[in-house]
Amino acid sequence: MSIVVQKFGGTSVADSKKILAAARKAIRAQKEGHQVVMVVSAMGKNTDRLVNLAKEITEEPPAREMDMLLSTGEQVSVALVAMAVHSLGHEAISLTGAQIGIVTDSTHTKARIRSISSERIQQALDDGKIVIAAGFQGIDESFNITTLGRGGSDTTAVALAAVLGADSCEIYTDVDGIYTTDPRVVPEARRVTQISYDEMLELASAGAGVMHNRSIEFAKKFSVPVHVRSSFSDNPGTMITTEPEAFSQPVCGAAMLKNEARLSVLGVPDRPGAAITLFSKIAAKNVAMDMIVQNVGAGGRADISFTVFHDDLPKTLKAVEEAVWELKAERYNYDDQVSKISVVGLGMATQTGVAEKMFRALGEKGINILMITTSQIKISVLVARENAADALRVVHQTFSLENEPPPAKAIGTGSGERSRAVAAADMVARMQGMENLIITGIELDESEARVTIVGVPDTPGLAAQVFEEIAAAGILVDMIVQSDGREGQANLSFTVPQGDLAKSIDIATTLADRFGCQAPTSCPKVAKLIVSGIGMKSHTTVAIRTFQSLADVGINIDMISTSEAQINVVVDGQKGQNALKILQQEFADVMV
Ligand code: ADP
Ligand code: ASP
Ligand code: MG
Repeated sequence: MSIVVQKFGGTSVADSKKILAAARKAIRAQKEGHQVVMVVSAMGKNTDRLVNLAKEITEEPPAREMDMLLSTGEQVSVALVAMAVHSLGHEAISLTGAQIGIVTDSTHTKARIRSISSERIQQALDDGKIVIAAGFQGIDESFNITTLGRGGSDTTAVALAAVLGADSCEIYTDVDGIYTTDPRVVPEARRVTQISYDEMLELASAGAGVMHNRSIEFAKKFSVPVHVRSSFSDNPGTMITTEPEAFSQPVCGAAMLKNEARLSVLGVPDRPGAAITLFSKIAAKNVAMDMIVQNVGAGGRADISFTVFHDDLPKTLKAVEEAVWELKAERYNYDDQVSKISVVGLGMATQTGVAEKMFRALGEKGINILMITTSQIKISVLVARENAADALRVVHQTFSLENEPPPAKAIGTGSGERSRAVAAADMVARMQGMENLIITGIELDESEARVTIVGVPDTPGLAAQVFEEIAAAGILVDMIVQSDGREGQANLSFTVPQGDLAKSIDIATTLADRFGCQAPTSCPKVAKLIVSGIGMKSHTTVAIRTFQSLADVGINIDMISTSEAQINVVVDGQKGQNALKILQQEFADVMV
């Protein structure tokens, strides 16, 4: 019999009427012949209320007790939903995370699912009951209650769908699908009919709060089709699957992470392993670094800049202070008033001109770009928070995201995807951890060269000028990294095909003259290593392992970019083969 998982978010169970409506949806699905599992969130803003209550008692509540507290929100909901199903004449059973057997690690407030035992749910379903599962919670091996992180009920739902082999996972929420950006910030945003796992993963981690990013990791790993739709209407919603909505469009969506903080450690001795000292200290505090930019500066010293969630700033500052002291770096500084704007699209991997179009649009609005990082399917810029909403809107307009693209050509995937999912599932079984990291490939690209313009004036429109001139010469730029400005000047590095290096240096030299900065530096052959997988970003150890293993053999990293699906590092061209070998060894335990 087919199984359907239906997840209801906070607004969808905010009061008794809504709870009854949710119960009716489940009953309808059961009448259509499905076995039904409901996953529910805490009612309305209940989780926020509990968080605030805790804060009234203490600024730093113990994480274990936080989980004890927050998990009650979902327990209230499941009981009420089960009562609602009963009142409508059907059988239901509510279950907490522990009762289901959702076993997690012990990282309180950010726990990862290790395993889920499906027997109890399956038995209840076979008995004809609708199962009401508490979202967002689990239990560790010592029976402590844990939670999965804010928004984590999505992850419970998709994970249950995966272990039960459900035919679909329906996410009922207060919007009628996935939009090209948050419709509350940009009203002209458009609902997309379909979006690929990779795009949704990048958007979710870039700030599209509509789905918990780890839920999409599960969906991709186990090929679970996810259907996002409205609790309050029968609109068709959005399918999250293997295929994008369109291949012709370079960009499928834009997102904003409003509350970011940027930190820079200046004058770090430029030797392999220096960055690692800093990164490990931050990872040890359970903080995920987001944009990471490293500049190789003059006199054998480098500047390292990165961003973290604003809430993690106090912890990060402590780590940075320790690292500055230990590394004998010159100093550090930070800016807690910044936001990150990203555009995402599978199409940009094969189309040129996407980055300069974004930079130009921001430049024309007088919005200064503070940092840039790019990966295969995402371009991110850091801007002042006061410009963030404008920037999101401008970028949305520039790529005409409000207009429907021509439909995607259907590409037969089916069996390939399935077998990949089976391979992933095997791997997971071996590793005994459903949310464990999976590396799917490590590649070496030795075809590129690097150009760096040092000391570019840190003013609106500069990046646009550079990349427009490069594009006008027909040169395909791959990675772009712009560092945080030091004394009003930024460093801009990019990679180009080796054959285009001479032309690129000419253009960069003319531009550097015009900007009044020193002659550009370059490297005729760089090696780019591309580590691909699932959970690359949420598993903060991947970046550390990459850096550490290369540092151990004396390989310095020139450029870095991280995304959900990949970590890209650029190293000296002579060291590419060795770096490849080292990374293959390092990740042998998690390769599929
Ligand atoms: P739930 O409580 O159902 O889990 P959330 O509040 O977590 O709901 O997610 C739904 C909200 O996500 C929407 O109300 C919307 O404002 C926001 N959102 C952000 N980005 C997007 C996007 N790209 N598409 C749709 N909604 C988005
Ligand atoms: N109730 C939790 C939260 O508000 C989990 C969820 O709703 O997904 O974050
Ligand atoms: Mg949510």
